[in-house]
Amino acid sequence: MVVKKICGIGAGYVGGPTCSVIALKCPDIQVTVVDVNHEKIAQWNSEKLPIYEPGLDEVVEKCRGRNLFFSTDMRLAIQEADLIFISVNTPTKTFGNGQGRAADLKYVENTARIIAEVATEDKIVVEKSTVPVRAAESILHILRANHKPGVSFQILSNPEFLAEGTAIENLVNPDRVLIGGHDSPEGRAAIEQLAQVYEHWISREKIFTTNTWSSELSKLAANAFLAQRISSINSLSAVCEVTGADVSEVASAIGLDSRIGSKFLQASVGFGGSCFQKDLLNLVYICECLNLPQVAAYWQQVIDMNEYQKSRFSTKVIVSLFNTVTDKHIAILGFAFKKNTGDTRDSPAIYVAKSLLDEGAVLHIYDPKVQEALIMDNLMACSDSHVKNRIHVYQDAYSAVENTHALVLCTEWDEFIELDYEKIYSQMTKPAYIFDGRKILDHTRLQNIGFIVQTIGKRLNR
Ligand code: NAD
Repeated sequence: MVVKKICGIGAGYVGGPTCSVIALKCPDIQVTVVDVNHEKIAQWNSEKLPIYEPGLDEVVEKCRGRNLFFSTDMRLAIQEADLIFISVNTPTKTFGNGQGRAADLKYVENTARIIAEVATEDKIVVEKSTVPVRAAESILHILRANHKPGVSFQILSNPEFLAEGTAIENLVNPDRVLIGGHDSPEGRAAIEQLAQVYEHWISREKIFTTNTWSSELSKLAANAFLAQRISSINSLSAVCEVTGADVSEVASAIGLDSRIGSKFLQASVGFGGSCFQKDLLNLVYICECLNLPQVAAYWQQVIDMNEYQKSRFSTKVIVSLFNTVTDKHIAILGFAFKKNTGDTRDSPAIYVAKSLLDEGAVLHIYDPKVQEALIMDNLMACSDSHVKNRIHVYQDAYSAVENTHALVLCTEWDEFIELDYEKIYSQMTKPAYIFDGRKILDHTRLQNIGFIVQTIGKRLNR
């Protein structure tokens, strides 16, 4: 059977771009993206999409109404589809007085129950969400226990490896597509059908097939390895700051070793985003459940190092400002967890901002793609209502830095490199401090202007 209709459940950062690119590359396939969030679907059907991702607007504009549809009618879309992608969120849940943390699969479970209830014909169900290893088994139990007579399901694991900020590029030209399935004639046939969808634009050599559990675990492993590299270089940044070594030089020196490679060795204020910490916690929890405490402890260290890095950076800001930031005005440039996205989930900027608010600072925040409401929601979620008066959100960097004691750079947006720092210096209270949490600025130039500059992994003596 050739796939003619696809239903994508979940219109978020993964489901929206993934389905849009499938629609772009497979004009003969009808793709319908559904979500329980009516407002989000309305935005996908409007000129202002619910997420910012370079190149996404153009893809959606080209396909929407042709073979790409956004809808809240989940039942109809499921009924009509040959193949269903589950791309719902799998956030972290806490349990046991906050001690335990694991993936919350309630949205995946809900989705499986709806599919079972609605499907009147055979379906291929594809896990695109990141899930614990062996989640496909639980999904299959739900489908088989609730399905209509005569309907059968094949379940595949097809994790998504896109990175926010480069999602369209990653989807159009991925390093690999991973498909895991059951080793049976039906399982192999389902893998083949999904592979044929991708073969519309991706060469066969890049489509890697495995058993279901390897595929599920590979996604967690990939994110764990990426996060581990960041925590490793960040751990060395702390050594650099007390020894006089420069972490950028160390990263370049070790990255030249072809066994190590140069990517993902950029020291910073710490990693963020909705995935790294969540997937590490997921891996740690699985290892604990499997009675592998040493393995769990190993991966837990990657998270602990990230927390330490964020705390180290925030403390550096406070200590440098004469050990008190009470009533001091501090500009935070960048609130998204990385450049080229408006996503703030687990952004290090939230940690830094909260630490400064806790110490009594007045914050002036600017991010090119994060709206005021989202910044306020993030900061008010764990703060008391009094701090609201100490948070000010600006529409540009120059307004944000006016009359501030310090500029704290939390996101590596290109526009921050291009700012007129002479002008900024003239606008700030003296002595004027810059804390570069992303190591993107020209520190010597800033020092020559008159700033006191601090960064990660390098002592800047003057
Ligand atoms: P998201 O929160 O942006 O989107 C998830 C969407 O699913 C939401 O719009 C939500 O309303 C919808 N949803 C929840 N339950 C639903 C239901 N029963 N029916 C229909 N819609 C439902 O999340 P995301 O960032 O797109 O991530 C989705 C999954 O992909 C997660 O498991 C994540 O770990 C994984 N992933 C994310 C990224 C990333 O960069 N964001 C990359 C790779 C993998």
